[in-house]
Amino acid sequence: MSNTKKLRIAIIGGGIGGLTCAVALRDCPNIELTLYEQAAQITEIGAGITVWPRTWMFLKSMGLEEDLLTILPEGYSDEPKLAFEFRMSDRKDGFTFHKIYAKGGALCFHRQEIQKTLLKHVPEHCRIHLSHRLSRCEESEDCVKMYFENGLEETCDILIGADGIKSVTRELFQNNGIFYTGSQVFRGLIPKDDFAKSYPTHKALDGPIQYLDEGKPVDGPTIRSATTEEALHEFSGWEVEVGQLLGSIEKPSRWVIRDLRPMKTYVSRRIALVGDSCHNMTPHLGAGAGQAMEDGYVLGRLFSTAGPEKWERILQAYNHLRFMSALRPAYQAIPSSSDFCSDGSGTYSRLPNDAANSETRQLLNGEPVVHSSTHGGQITVHPNGHSYTYTYGPKGLAGLALNRYALLCAVFASIGGLSFGYDQGVDFMTRWPISPLEEGFMTAVLELGALVGALCAGIFADNYSRRFSMFISCIIFCIGSTLQCGARSLLHLFIGRAIGGVGVGALSTLSPLYMAEISPPEVRGSLMALEQFAIVLGVVLGFWLGYFTRDIPGSASWRIPLGVQIIPAVILILGCTFLPASPRLLVLQGRYDEAIASLAQLRLRSLAEAQEDPLIQIEFLEMRVEAAMIHRRFGTAENSKSALSAEWIAWKRLFGKNYRDRTMVGILIAFFQQWSGINALLYYGPILVRNIGLSGGNVTLLVSGGIGIVQFLAVLPVIAYIDKWGRRPLLRGGSIAMTCSHFSISILIILFASDWTAHSTAAWIGVGFVYTFTAAYGMSFGPVAWVLPSEVFPLSMRSKGVALSTASVWVNNFLIGLITPVTLEWSAAGTFMMFAVASFLAYIWVTYNVPETANVSLEEIDEMFKSSAGREESILKAQIEEDLGLRALIVRLARDEVRD
Ligand SMILES: Cc1cc2nc3c(=O)[nH]c(=O)nc-3n(C[C@H](O)[C@H](O)[C@H](O)COP(=O)(O)OP(=O)(O)OC[C@H]3O[C@@H](n4cnc5c(N)ncnc54)[C@H](O)[C@@H]3O)c2cc1C
Repeated sequence: MSNTKKLRIAIIGGGIGGLTCAVALRDCPNIELTLYEQAAQITEIGAGITVWPRTWMFLKSMGLEEDLLTILPEGYSDEPKLAFEFRMSDRKDGFTFHKIYAKGGALCFHRQEIQKTLLKHVPEHCRIHLSHRLSRCEESEDCVKMYFENGLEETCDILIGADGIKSVTRELFQNNGIFYTGSQVFRGLIPKDDFAKSYPTHKALDGPIQYLDEGKPVDGPTIRSATTEEALHEFSGWEVEVGQLLGSIEKPSRWVIRDLRPMKTYVSRRIALVGDSCHNMTPHLGAGAGQAMEDGYVLGRLFSTAGPEKWERILQAYNHLRFMSALRPAYQAIPSSSDFCSDGSGTYSRLPNDAANSETRQLLNGEPVVHSSTHGGQITVHPNGHSYTYTYGPKGLAGLALNRYALLCAVFASIGGLSFGYDQGVDFMTRWPISPLEEGFMTAVLELGALVGALCAGIFADNYSRRFSMFISCIIFCIGSTLQCGARSLLHLFIGRAIGGVGVGALSTLSPLYMAEISPPEVRGSLMALEQFAIVLGVVLGFWLGYFTRDIPGSASWRIPLGVQIIPAVILILGCTFLPASPRLLVLQGRYDEAIASLAQLRLRSLAEAQEDPLIQIEFLEMRVEAAMIHRRFGTAENSKSALSAEWIAWKRLFGKNYRDRTMVGILIAFFQQWSGINALLYYGPILVRNIGLSGGNVTLLVSGGIGIVQFLAVLPVIAYIDKWGRRPLLRGGSIAMTCSHFSISILIILFASDWTAHSTAAWIGVGFVYTFTAAYGMSFGPVAWVLPSEVFPLSMRSKGVALSTASVWVNNFLIGLITPVTLEWSAAGTFMMFAVASFLAYIWVTYNVPETANVSLEEIDEMFKSSAGREESILKAQIEEDLGLRALIVRLARDEVRD
């Protein structure tokens, strides 16, 4: 041990926090401890300080009890005692409105004496430098450099900033400084014995008491001397007891009360802040000194327990344990909250009584703190004390069962996908006497209509509700389908297809968007994979309905399959009136009560349960944070412009440097989904199968129909496990399997296409590869292309990003429909080779450009995209999280967990 270099720890400030820390570091081996204090001696002017039983508990555990008892005039007993009394005193007939009892009561010390006692216990090896005022410090990777006003320059490994509310050390941290609270105090000493003689029945003699009014802000300078007359005048009209106290103060002074705006962290790499330097308390809370001592104690004990070599983890653990912003509301609620200190131990704060206890060990080992919620969910707070993940329950099938209502809603929304698939699968054109050009036009109008629908949905979804937009899309789709079903001429059919296409295209944007916004995080992938499930189901239904109606005489053979598609659309229209609104959009519109109600419904909680449930509160606050970000980043700029130019700016932003990479992921996932060759198989399945040597109408149709069924079966395990397996493994594995399948089919065609009848085994192997391809597609690009876009975009860009990605589906779908017949005509082997190359490129693209979005935070996704949008957004987000109380909630939950 003696060979190891000692860790140099410097404490700035010899106040209550700094001294306690020095005492708590007493037993820490292998450190070199130095304390710097600006004053010429370690004494603090001031009167008494109140110490709560909790603080007393660890002062005892540091071995200070014996000495402290000698300076405690009233002595100490474990009996419950009145700790604080709160009176409404701004009237002659003042009254007590709240009392706090605590084990042993609140202990009142003379500040100077407690500081002397602490000083006595500071270890001998600690060097104390008085009259050393730190003027600034610099932190580097290897050390902290300190510059003092007297010209001294020193370095240390760890700096503990205990330099009070006007801290110099804090300047190295991002902070919003101190502010005047609007309150002022008269401060001074009252000789107790004289006072007791004059007013023997005065309540202040029984214990700590606060005389309050409703709190009116006061203006005035910082600190100045005051007169008794001034104090009496200020409180004229208050109850008599107040005047008696004020009239007895010797040399009153008048102080303004300052407070420190909440910090984001109390530690940097090598610096830890302690006490008022990071979380000042206003004096009427009677807790600042106790908290400063707790900080010092916890930090010291962590070092002693874990050993100085673990200093990095220690600072993180300290931050986690002592991060105070969550405590402020509890403090501020003192007079009204009966929970506060109800057990007399200070439920407001969390302290490892012994730094070696299991939770602290957990933190020192970098393990997260897990908070279990009453409904079976969990919130995991990571050791840095800020980042967290939460789940309402398990992933996979069990998670879907638990979230059955959200599942039901997603199933309803996915009916949009069913219509999309049905339109792709249904084969009615062979029943019309139309030319190949007209056939191509028939496909094109649907896809162009869908393209328009997909893009318009991105605008409507934000400006109106998701549900209303879905409702309108279904109506449009029904109008188009009715026109097709009742067509009297080819023109009717074209117009019907174009109108129906607008509806289908809009639904293909809106359904995934709505599903993403109602899904609990742990089954988001599964619920969104339902879109692909519905599409494939639509394809299968369309194909087989077309198949079974093909021999019906007359126009019924095409009117029936075209008319049947109205049924799911009507079901969705009805469903839209029952579906809960997207809570996210409600929050965006500022309708918070409705948002909570919708969230409660989706997560199967009663409204009362939802108000209490931390998981719902977290999800709701996250939504508010995202909504606030949208308003702050874009709101003002866009509100000031016309609706049209605001839309234009929003779309343009997708291609700006901050979002370009995500936009490319959205566009390219759709590109590769289509260029994998799947729709070529669906559109031209019969031709392809004929090309690999199978003949006979029924066999061809059955093989093509089988493609849909294989896809349908392949997507089932994805729904169950996509959140466990992740998106990238599915995409990479799928693209390799697709490449191999296409490549093999191409080779088989080259080798045996001249005479398939003589090589029927090879022909069937070819069919096997067609199915292998279909299964691989059904487990990878099929479903994941619907999941990924809404995950890579932050909420502010989501609806437009998803719309653009869906538009890419339709553009590429259109191109494939146009190109495949030509390439097949030219060379079947070449066509499959083209798709093999596209699938291989998809593999390379996924490997290098696609982030894993399952269970990944926005910051981590940003890291993957190396985009500054992420950093900027995370700074803004952190600020908003703080303002809205999300961070406070997380910290409080973790604390409750440790305390429990
Ligand atoms: C009127 C009033 C009444 C209060 N009553 C109570 C109470 O009853 N109970 C309670 O718990 N709390 C009370 N508090 C709050 C409590 O006093 C503070 O929260 C507590 O003192 C904070 O301790 P600290 O060690 O963080 O800071 P401080 O006690 O302010 O100590 C900071 C030390 O650092 C030194 N220093 C500052 N800058 C430098 C520098 N640049 N270089 C070197 N040294 C430096 C200072 O000289 C000082 O010694 C009260 C506060 C006020 C104003």
